[in-house]
Amino acid sequence: MARYSGRCACGAVHFETDAEPMMAGHCQCSRCQKLSGAPHSSFAAFPEAAVRMSGKLASWSYTADSGNVATRHHCPTCGAPVYGTTKGMPGVMAITLSMLDDPAAIVPKMAFFTKHAVPWDLLDDSLVAFPGMPPM
Ligand SMILES: [Zn+2]
Ligand SMILES: [Zn+2]
Repeated sequence: MARYSGRCACGAVHFETDAEPMMAGHCQCSRCQKLSGAPHSSFAAFPEAAVRMSGKLASWSYTADSGNVATRHHCPTCGAPVYGTTKGMPGVMAITLSMLDDPAAIVPKMAFFTKHAVPWDLLDDSLVAFPGMPPM
């Protein structure tokens, strides 16, 4: 059994990995708000090479605030967000925590783009918060 596994809402897209996440956090940027259907996205970053992803995905690319091209991948059937990549961090996949079979298995420790937070989207004070992207 893989350490972490997950699927989209309809189950057509599935992933598993034995890697530990490089980091996990909430992103309150305006695109995450649009893409998640909620005031932030929550995700964990994994090395792409350690993730086994199956199922058909659709994608959307855009230029992020950083100037890097970012791509979001989602299930074309149910529309669930699956993962994101950015040219700024090659080889890294940010997988949405809502994909996890056990959503409590990974605990976010950071918050990004808090300057774009919706006022009622109150996150845990113990999170390490960054107004924009964290310095890498
Ligand atoms: Zn699906
Ligand atoms: Zn975001």
